[in-house]
Amino acid sequence: MRTRYYNALILAGEDREVREGEMWVKDDKIEAVVFDGRKSEELFDSEYDCGGNLLMPSLKDAHTHTAMTFSRSLADEFELNDWLFKAIFPREAKLTAEHVYWFTLLGFAENIMSGTTACFDMYMFPESVAKAAVEIGIRNVFCGSPNDFGGMDLIEERYLRFNEYDPLVSYKMGFHAEYTTNKDNLQIISDIAHKYEAPVYTHISETKAEVDGCIERYGKTPAVVLDEMGMFDFGGGGFHCVHFTDEDIEIFKKRGLYTVFNACSNLKLSSGIAPVKKYIDRGLKIAIGTDGAGSNNSLDMFREMYLDAVLSNVRSDKDGLIDPFDILKAGYSGGAHCMGLSDSDILAAGKNADFILLDMHHPNMNPRNNIVSNIVYAGSPVNVLMTVCAGKVLYHKGVLTTVDINEVNKMCSRLVEDLI
Ligand SMILES: [Zn+2]
Repeated sequence: MRTRYYNALILAGEDREVREGEMWVKDDKIEAVVFDGRKSEELFDSEYDCGGNLLMPSLKDAHTHTAMTFSRSLADEFELNDWLFKAIFPREAKLTAEHVYWFTLLGFAENIMSGTTACFDMYMFPESVAKAAVEIGIRNVFCGSPNDFGGMDLIEERYLRFNEYDPLVSYKMGFHAEYTTNKDNLQIISDIAHKYEAPVYTHISETKAEVDGCIERYGKTPAVVLDEMGMFDFGGGGFHCVHFTDEDIEIFKKRGLYTVFNACSNLKLSSGIAPVKKYIDRGLKIAIGTDGAGSNNSLDMFREMYLDAVLSNVRSDKDGLIDPFDILKAGYSGGAHCMGLSDSDILAAGKNADFILLDMHHPNMNPRNNIVSNIVYAGSPVNVLMTVCAGKVLYHKGVLTTVDINEVNKMCSRLVEDLI
């Protein structure tokens, strides 16, 4: 199946340049990105007129708990610790595989409609999540088996099983956090990571209280404790990374770890603001995630990109103002590399056909003084005309093509009653 997307503006993504051109897709891969008027030697099975709108790499949600859509707007009055232990953990104890399947579908639908084609998901009932991902057509990368759910012995089994499950599904090592994992279990995770030479990911330094607690337990920050256990010997990353010391930053730099920002969740739970510009200037690798819908409450990567850009500017003026292209690139490429999807990062021949078409005729994209700035500072899901993952159109002009959203909404409305 060969499709020609023509009459487009194209942000291929290696750099900030936007040019007129067309893109050819063959099955699940990009065959060519054409800027010189070159013609295809073969006929196409279909041709799509992009109408002068913008083709760009799709967004990648590099930290989420997709099924937590069940907790959207359910417990908005708590800070992180009370929110987790009083509002979330008791309800999660009631979740079944059926709940997770439907609430994950709901989350994926929101991701796709807002231009996201890959999620780095940390949750439970992975069979339900994998089934939902394959059915709706989005990429799901599992981030570990949360140690509180299912036991440590499952990690290795899941690591092997879900890395062979489906081209849309893969599995990375991960655990919830230092403060919810005892030292014996941390050591087991580190040992398995060494066995497979695998990167490891975790929530880290999200709140000041978390860092203080770790210093009380070990006399060191979470990044130091975990690094000394060999947890990051093969790379990986941290979610949130709000309260890093200079030593923590150096560890992340030395190990090539990703800092994954979750600005909206940090604001809502009163956790703090990550110094994004400072991390960029220190040479850290960056990616962006939404965190779960319970702590956000949306899965809108445009809002995350906007907040990362503007909040960093507020937090520390001595760091200077942020370059919006650094944020946009983290949104489509940094996230891809963070979760091991290096073939989904940019638009180029041989890469995965994971891309979006943004409406350039919407007032918020005009005038086009700077298209990258328009996307980061003024863009929103309202601009997403089309979302394509692995060459398949999952969303087009208001319509999800692989799922009946009315049925999903209806099921989720019914199932949430079990949890309240
Ligand atoms: Zn999280």
